[in-house]
Amino acid sequence: MKPRICLSARYLTYTHLFSRYQVTCYSTQTATSPINISKQSIHPTTPARTRFAPSPTGFLHLGSLRTALYNYLLAKNTNGQFILRIEDTDQTRLVEGAEQNIYNTLEWCNLQIDESPVRGGQFGPYRQSERKDIYKKYAQFLLDKGLAYKCYCSKERLLQLRESAQRLKPPTNVTYDRKCFTKLNEPDNDSFVIRFKSPHKYPKFNDLLHGSTDIQPQYNLHDQRFDDFVIIKNDGMPTYHFANVVDDHLMKITHVIRGEEWLASTPKHVALYNAFGWSPPEFVHIPLLTSLEDRKLSKRKGDFNILQLREQGGILPEALLNFVALFGWAPYRELNEKTSEVLDLDQLVEKFSLDQLTKGNAKVNDSKLQFFQKEHFKRACADPAKLNSLVDSYFDEFKLISKNGKSKEYLKELLISLAPNISHVKDVCNHTYLFKNIDYGAVKPPKDIQQAKTILSYVIENGFDNALANLPTIGFPKKEVFMTLRAALSGGKPGLPIPELVKFIGELESKDRVKKYANYLSIMNE
Ligand code: GLU
Repeated sequence: MKPRICLSARYLTYTHLFSRYQVTCYSTQTATSPINISKQSIHPTTPARTRFAPSPTGFLHLGSLRTALYNYLLAKNTNGQFILRIEDTDQTRLVEGAEQNIYNTLEWCNLQIDESPVRGGQFGPYRQSERKDIYKKYAQFLLDKGLAYKCYCSKERLLQLRESAQRLKPPTNVTYDRKCFTKLNEPDNDSFVIRFKSPHKYPKFNDLLHGSTDIQPQYNLHDQRFDDFVIIKNDGMPTYHFANVVDDHLMKITHVIRGEEWLASTPKHVALYNAFGWSPPEFVHIPLLTSLEDRKLSKRKGDFNILQLREQGGILPEALLNFVALFGWAPYRELNEKTSEVLDLDQLVEKFSLDQLTKGNAKVNDSKLQFFQKEHFKRACADPAKLNSLVDSYFDEFKLISKNGKSKEYLKELLISLAPNISHVKDVCNHTYLFKNIDYGAVKPPKDIQQAKTILSYVIENGFDNALANLPTIGFPKKEVFMTLRAALSGGKPGLPIPELVKFIGELESKDRVKKYANYLSIMNE
């Protein structure tokens, strides 16, 4: 098979990630094709153990939620386990509240975790800062085998090495000269890091999405340096690469689904697996999320804190998950078959397959989120349990809006009636005319005032039902009847059909409004 240098448009968006690497993929698939075009399925047939391994260095954003979701879906689709591991070894980058935000977000999204720092599990602890002794033991194993070594170089020396590597032509970020590997005498201080003795050429590895992949650092042939990355820092904490590999192995992870930004780190991970004599898990590096203009997501465009979305936008978790699930995956469909992409979490679990992942950049289109919100809001209003929780979440605010103490039952029925026209429970506040007097002066006057007055008198004498049934049969255009009544009842606001307006305003109050509107028109006509 002819190798392909993978510097596609997708990578070019993120050249900073790959600028110092030679990336070659041996997969025949094109950037946007679903990957099941090769006949062989890559979806596991045995239970998968997957993990979501965030660092608590900020609040959970869209990209991390997608990673969590795909790992969850793969585990649940195969009757496996979904593990949450907190990767907090870089103590300088920890953000207060970030770990709690991860738990709260996953809980709100209903992604149930089988093993985690909170739930425990047989492979714990699940917080890396509590596993220092385990890493120490495995680092010692590599030291004993001569596959790792202690490095006592000073900060200043390492900085000089880095700077001189940058000045090379071509520059390289492989900077270390292996001084501490070759030198025999140990210095008298005990501040050291442990470095992995990297192979000169990293092994090729298989990525289920990208195929056989060969990523090599860019060396400068005239000034030999070594990619001997640090595995234990001088505070005794492991680095990400080391802890990640040790934990994925010990926690028996079968599939690692993570963002493409980690593709360049994978050769290091595979080299570590080889050094230990372990088989690596299956890797799936999923495309990065970009804005519609193919740029990196920014705070303003798409890269929002998930819980903020819930609090400020009233978004339903089902809508958000549906939106996020389609960033790089689509449900299977037969040729020409129409399948709805509106899926709740159970349906996503059922339909999820690695064969349906796509390779192109996943573009975040906010209007799609609104579409899914509308659809899932309709579904929620038709589901008694979900409807109850919508009512509970909004009832306190609703009491203030409705002033006269409407019940939960009233709000429930109102939501059912408004469901086709609104997308959020808070949209009920656009219908406050139900609870307050109408300012008829602000309502567009009818074209034929006399006709409108006759319609209103008929309603006062015969009631709404009779008026709606009979007036059109005795020469009053249906449209005029409806418009006149809507003006009287809601000041012309669209949304609810007339019988529903009467139901929610109340028969007495509705009649009163009709009388008031008739009076108003009479005065206006004088
Ligand atoms: N701790 C890494 C992160 O913050 C995990 C990367 C991985 O999944 O290996 O995304």
